[in-house]
Amino acid sequence: MSLANATGKTAVAKGPRIAPREMLARLIAFDTTSAKSNLALIDFVRDYLSAHGIESRLVFDDHRSKANLYASLGPGGAGGVVLSGHTDVVPVAGQPWSSDPFILREANGRLHGRGTCDMKGFIALALSLVPEMQAAGLKRPIHIALSYDEELGCLGAPRMIADIKANLPLPEIAIVGEPTRLKLGNRHKGCYGFDLEVTGRDGHSSATHRGLNAIAHAAQAIGFLDSLAERFRREGPFDPGFDPPYTTFNVGEISGGTAGNIIARQCKVAWEFRPIPAVDPETVIATVKRYLSEELVPRMRERVPEADVAMTEACVVPPLVPRPGSPAEALARHLTGANDTIGLAFGTEAGQFQDIGIDAIVCGPGSIEQAHQPDEFIELSQFAEGEAFLRRLMAWAAS
Ligand SMILES: [Zn+2]
Repeated sequence: MSLANATGKTAVAKGPRIAPREMLARLIAFDTTSAKSNLALIDFVRDYLSAHGIESRLVFDDHRSKANLYASLGPGGAGGVVLSGHTDVVPVAGQPWSSDPFILREANGRLHGRGTCDMKGFIALALSLVPEMQAAGLKRPIHIALSYDEELGCLGAPRMIADIKANLPLPEIAIVGEPTRLKLGNRHKGCYGFDLEVTGRDGHSSATHRGLNAIAHAAQAIGFLDSLAERFRREGPFDPGFDPPYTTFNVGEISGGTAGNIIARQCKVAWEFRPIPAVDPETVIATVKRYLSEELVPRMRERVPEADVAMTEACVVPPLVPRPGSPAEALARHLTGANDTIGLAFGTEAGQFQDIGIDAIVCGPGSIEQAHQPDEFIELSQFAEGEAFLRRLMAWAAS
């Protein structure tokens, strides 16, 4: 991890004013597909904020090819609200788009383009309001938090959130602007992904007594994961706010072996589980690790001493735990007028904010139904409602 501070101008700055729609067009034009760098977009945002006298704090990935950006407006100190969004988008390859996905296009009351709803629309609105926020005399800070690699499993945000926790005054509330049609998403499942690397011993397939088959033992690990999945499906705990209402497991990838007549020495398995908020993920992880270290690996080593199963973490997205009546929920109710809360079928960085003591809610314009789709769009009406939502937030922060 590395940090850098842009040198913001401290004098009263007169940066450019960019209308929401124009800002969205500019953000869409950066191809920030998760596999690519997001630095061109981050540079653009940093320069724009700097022109308005706002410093950006960047937290890079290991290769310095991607960065999170965190910037604070209004009075310094703790409290206030973080507006959080991801800068990356999912690929367009293989999708039948009617026009260039990276050029904003209006048609039939909709703004089309990759990322319009998921979730550059929310970011564009927040950024375009910056000059007004600066002029509003905020009494409570508003922070802008932009992350990378969200679409790969919220991989970027944890570095920024760790940096905030270690080095900065803590905001009170995080609003994650994923598309909920401005409904109050106060809970989602977590997602914990792992790779298993099973090592046996190779040899001629006719002499199985001299080798140890990694595929066969990976299959036993998968069987154990399946038995856990079945137990959660039958016995719960259950949460009717989700579909399905229980913790799920999935083995998503397997690879191993070299040929039909060779005992497989290696086998790799990628798996994940998605706990409802009532399930402690650490307990699940410990259960799997105990099975591996106390049952499977000893059984393998009885036959060949070098046998092993390594389990490594691929992604960690903690659940968003509902906290009825919490400051985040109360503020979002005040800003939207909505009474009901909803459970979300997707993970976000909201649980990561919650984990360091920042109250979090997911609420943003547009619909998740259009996310990841060809001809992704945000309705003009949703875009306008999102702007009104952020203007009410600005008024609240200035009051
Ligand atoms: Zn998203």
